[in-house]
Amino acid sequence: MRIAMVSEHASPLVASNGLGGVDAGGQNVAVRALALALADAGHEVVVHTRRTDPRTPRRVPMAPGVVVDHVDAGPAAELPKDELVDLMDAFSADLASCWRAERPDVVHAHFWMSGLAALPSARALGVPVVQTFHALGSVKRRHQGADDTSPARRVAAESDLGASVDRVLATCRDEADELAALGVPAEQVTVVPCGVDVGHFTPAGDAASTSGRGGFRVLTVSRLVPRKGVDTVIAALGRLPRDVELTVAGGPSAGRLDDDPEVRRLRALAARTGVADRVTFLGAVAHDALPALYRGADAVACVPVYEPFGLVPLEAMACGRPVVAAAVGGLADTVVDDVTGHHVPAGDPAAVAAALDALRAHPRRARALGRAGRRRAVAEYGWDRVAAAHEQAYAGVVASTTVSPGVLTTGSPA
Ligand code: UDP
Repeated sequence: MRIAMVSEHASPLVASNGLGGVDAGGQNVAVRALALALADAGHEVVVHTRRTDPRTPRRVPMAPGVVVDHVDAGPAAELPKDELVDLMDAFSADLASCWRAERPDVVHAHFWMSGLAALPSARALGVPVVQTFHALGSVKRRHQGADDTSPARRVAAESDLGASVDRVLATCRDEADELAALGVPAEQVTVVPCGVDVGHFTPAGDAASTSGRGGFRVLTVSRLVPRKGVDTVIAALGRLPRDVELTVAGGPSAGRLDDDPEVRRLRALAARTGVADRVTFLGAVAHDALPALYRGADAVACVPVYEPFGLVPLEAMACGRPVVAAAVGGLADTVVDDVTGHHVPAGDPAAVAAALDALRAHPRRARALGRAGRRRAVAEYGWDRVAAAHEQAYAGVVASTTVSPGVLTTGSPA
């Protein structure tokens, strides 16, 4: 198949470097890995993303079978994701001319704004559209309230898109429930998770030493935004013996940590909690350096307030590390309580402390949970398996689409 992916703000080329900043995270990684796995399976993939640097060539080959196409929409500069919605008409017009010149068999839009841009252009050519939201505005609004900077029309646009595209791929059961609550017909939705590169994230290999003290090492890996719950882990540290230490990966580059408001907030909390000497902020860590970092940890804590999917727990599991995870969003599916780690309620430092202390006190059990995590990551979440599920969804919409440009009719959903 000729597959056109649209990922308006998250370029797959950012995926190996520059992650951990405010707007660069799992979507970049997932789009990249999915494109590569689909190309490995013999498909031709073009990923359309917005040009953010005037020096970037229009088309950049990423790997055999994968091209990244830089779409001109608005200034060729980094812009906050929430400001891009006004550029989606221009993005859509550019896609339309690309697709008229080279008609894809299927379009896969990632994030709601990509769906807005992709749907009219694909419809005009009778190309079916698959949508992955990666995050839903209704969830964000519920948790962030007035701090949510998403455009006001996001929630309505997501439910319209959900009902209009040919298939919605929800990355977890929680998202499927949320889509149902938004009025998206259940028969439109298939749960297809994101995956993890189980060849890159492995238990065997170098382990980075993050501390010279030889205590129990806890790791968090995330963009440093409040909803990721790093504050909950720091608060938990105050309830744990002094040999328990925390390494925080993510955020701005190491040299810019002092200027970052979230780092300042977390450092102040660590000082108030009396654990400042037990918390190390690394700043953004290159994706390629992460396996060694996971391997150097005794446990990985991932306790966001909410999480659409969450690649980090899967990466930790693939590296054979037990995960203490908030039982929210995708983490409720990926981490199995008492099998690959421990589930805790979101925002509950006492529960995080208890779960980490149990791992610290029972190292053999902790290692067994880590091994079970590796087995689960390989069995359920390898990208070849996840790409095959995408392939099946694409084939379903292609088979049930009667091509008649401008008048797209769809048959029964796959
Ligand atoms: N990541 C990274 N370096 C960092 C912080 C994060 O490479 O310093 C990667 C991490 O390995 C994961 C992704 O960014 O692949 C974060 O994805 P996740 O789904 O956990 O969260 P999101 O950022 O999408 O909210």
